[in-house]
Amino acid sequence: MSTPEFSIIEEFFTPKYDQGLLPILGIGDDCAVLEVPTEKQLAVSTDTLVEGVHFLPNSDPRLLGHKVLAVNLSDLAAMGATPAWFSLAITLPNIDKAWLSSFSAGLFALAKRHSLQLIGGDTTRGPLSVTVNIMGLLPKHQRLTRSGAKVGDGVYVSGTIGNAGLGLEKAKSGVQGADDKDLIAYLKPNPRIDLGNELIKIASSCIDISDGLSADLNHVLKLSGVGAKIYHDKLPLTDSVRQHMGKVGDDLWPYSTGDDYELCFTVPEQVDIKSIADLRSYNITKIGVIDEGSGLRIEAKNGELIRLNKGFDHFNVE
Ligand code: ADP
Ligand code: MG
Repeated sequence: MSTPEFSIIEEFFTPKYDQGLLPILGIGDDCAVLEVPTEKQLAVSTDTLVEGVHFLPNSDPRLLGHKVLAVNLSDLAAMGATPAWFSLAITLPNIDKAWLSSFSAGLFALAKRHSLQLIGGDTTRGPLSVTVNIMGLLPKHQRLTRSGAKVGDGVYVSGTIGNAGLGLEKAKSGVQGADDKDLIAYLKPNPRIDLGNELIKIASSCIDISDGLSADLNHVLKLSGVGAKIYHDKLPLTDSVRQHMGKVGDDLWPYSTGDDYELCFTVPEQVDIKSIADLRSYNITKIGVIDEGSGLRIEAKNGELIRLNKGFDHFNVE
């Protein structure tokens, strides 16, 4: 790597705090060296954001820095893992110090909040794209998976659904506003790490909602070999999303919009989730029940059942 690129890493991609687990050897050598604490196991995940595919051209670099880490943290949350380390591969069309400074500020603000240490990466030239490889810690032999849902379990989601999808619509049509909840949901998702940590004790399965509730819940159903009935009335929706559903004349709209990064999880019937003090502070809604059927069936108010198995398709974007 050339000297200017080295100075970029030094200036913009070196953690300036010592919270969390420091690597044995971090940025600067051919590899980082990490020590996994005894009694822990490593959870590892990678997600890439490509300009024009996962974020709009000319996006705010500070928000992009936040988002690339948030979507990766969300995968750790869905496993019940505690964030520890990440590496960053960034492809840049040119060296723009103001852009890099904002990107780095957004990235490290979220990293620091989760005591997450940047331990290495790669810097290349080309069309803008950012990849994070994230590593978290799990207690030995404990994890939340997609394959554990059982007949009778309740189906739950955190937060509200469809706001990020609406935020994307708003961003595309040029809506601005620092207080717009839908824009915030889309541009600055809040990974549910603490909730994932609590759920590891009680949930039978878990996934984060990145491609839409129906697509992501269908992954759980398939891997668990079960079906689910969802009570349409129970879906947690904000007024803004309800209004949008009315506008587009599609009641099923929030099931197929992506990017919410809330958790969808199942809990055995006998667990009284309301009595678990640690869970009370989270905004959790029971939306349905796991059954012996196959796939996701949505029960409308009139008792009508609608089968849904689609979500955001990465290879078929309209
Ligand atoms: P190599 O040529 O051996 O792949 P590089 O010159 O790409 O090494 O990187 C030098 C050091 O800087 C390595 O420790 C690498 O992990 C780190 N690094 C490169 N790019 C980044 C980045 N964007 N963020 C953090 N660390 C980086
Ligand atoms: Mg390299």
